[in-house]
Amino acid sequence: MDFSFDVTIIGAGVVGLAVAASVARPGLEVCVVERHDGFGRETSSRNSEVVHSGIYYPPDSLKTRLCVRGRALIYEICAKNGIPHARMGKLVVAARPEEVPDLEELARNGRRCGVDDLVLLSKDELARLEPNVRGEAALLSPSAGIVDSHGLMRYFEGAARSRGAAFLYNREAVSLDPDREGFTVIIREGTETLDFRTRTVVNAAGLGAERIAALAGIDPDRAGYRIRPCKGEYFRLRRRAGTAVNRLIFPVPRLDSGGLGVHVTVDLQGELKLGPNAFYVTTLDYDVDPGHRDQFYESTRPYLPLVEPDDIEPAMAGIRPKLQGEGEGFRDFVIRREEDKGLPGLVNLIGIESPGLTAAPAIGELAAGLVGEIL
Ligand SMILES: Cc1cc2nc3c(=O)[nH]c(=O)nc-3n(C[C@H](O)[C@H](O)[C@H](O)COP(=O)(O)OP(=O)(O)OC[C@H]3O[C@@H](n4cnc5c(N)ncnc54)[C@H](O)[C@@H]3O)c2cc1C
Repeated sequence: MDFSFDVTIIGAGVVGLAVAASVARPGLEVCVVERHDGFGRETSSRNSEVVHSGIYYPPDSLKTRLCVRGRALIYEICAKNGIPHARMGKLVVAARPEEVPDLEELARNGRRCGVDDLVLLSKDELARLEPNVRGEAALLSPSAGIVDSHGLMRYFEGAARSRGAAFLYNREAVSLDPDREGFTVIIREGTETLDFRTRTVVNAAGLGAERIAALAGIDPDRAGYRIRPCKGEYFRLRRRAGTAVNRLIFPVPRLDSGGLGVHVTVDLQGELKLGPNAFYVTTLDYDVDPGHRDQFYESTRPYLPLVEPDDIEPAMAGIRPKLQGEGEGFRDFVIRREEDKGLPGLVNLIGIESPGLTAAPAIGELAAGLVGEIL
C-alpha cells in the first residue's frame, strides 16, 4: 500500500461520475473505482434517457427535490457543453374516463412539487397536439425532454479528470476495512489485488450498492438497504418520431407497479421505443423476452392505436436498483453519511432508480456537500 486518497467513489455510472465532477478540486486526491473497462456500462446506459420534470413523487422527497434541481442543471450543462438533448415535452395520457381523476391528482402533485408549467388538456386539445394519440384528457409537461446519457457521462468524466480525479477502470472493490481515519480498500483486477487508504468512500455502485454497504459492515436488512432488482424491457417501434408522435407519451402511472408504465420514448436519432415494463428478478441479465410483445402491444394500444403487433421488436433492457419490493409502498433514495452506524467516512447512495439520471447532477452536489462535512 503506497498510495492514498481523500475520496474514493465506487461506481462510474452517471451518479458516481456526477459526484466525482462535484467533489474533485485541485489539492484533493479523488479516485473513481469501476469494475468495467469504462463508464456507464450498467443502468446508466440502459434507460429511457428521459429528463423528468419531477411530478410523480412526494413533494418533500429526495426523488422530487433532486429531480427538479437536476433537470435544471442538466439543461444548463447540456446547453453550455454541446451535449445533445431535446426539451420536447411529454404528455401523460388518460386513455380511459376512469383514469381522469388520477391524472388530475398527478397534476396537483406536480404543482406541489414545484413544477409550475403543467397544462391539463381536454380530449380535443390532445387530438390537436398529437393526432395519433387517443385519450380522454392529458397532462402536458413542457419541461420534460431527453438527453444523450453517454454525452452527459463523458462530460462528467472529463470535468472530474480536469479537476484531478483518477479513474481506476477494470478494478472491482472487494473489501472495505473501516478504522478511525477512514478505510483500507482492496480492489481486484483479474487475479491481482491492490490495497490503498482513503479518508472517505462514496458508495455509488448502483445494483452493487447493497454489497458495498455490507463490505463496510452494514447489515442490509437491518438498515433497509436490500436491493430488489426490477427489470424493464424495451421494444423498438418500427416508426420514426414525427410520423407517430412528437413528444414523449406516458400512461397514467400506477406507482405500485414498479415503474411509470410502458411509455413511448423518442431518442435523439428520432427512433421510437416502447417501455419499460417492470418485473422483479433474481438473476441479472439483459435479455428481452420476445414473448412479451403482446404485453407491450396491449399496454400501448389504448393511447396509441396505430401500433400493430408487427410494428414492434425486442430492443434492450435495464434493471432498476429498487429498495421497495413487489407491492410495497414508496421508498426514497438513500443519500446519507453513515456516522450513526459507526462509519463517519462513508456516504451511501442506495436505491438510485428513476429519476436517477435526471437527478444525477443534483445528487453530485448533495454528495459532495456530505463529503465536505467529513473532510
Ligand atoms: C429501465 C430503466 C429506465 C430508466 N429510465 C430513466 C429515465 O428515463 N430518466 C431518469 O432520470 N432515470 C431513469 N432510470 C434510472 C437511471 O437510469 C438510474 O437511476 C441511474 O442510471 C443510476 O446510475 P448509477 O450511477 O447510480 O448506477 P449505474 O449506472 O448502475 O452505475 C453503478 C456502477 O457501479 C459499478 N460497480 C458496482 N459494484 C462495484 C464494485 N464492487 N467495484 C467497482 N465498481 C462497481 C457498476 O459496474 C456500475 O458501473 C431508469 C432506470 C431503468 C432501469
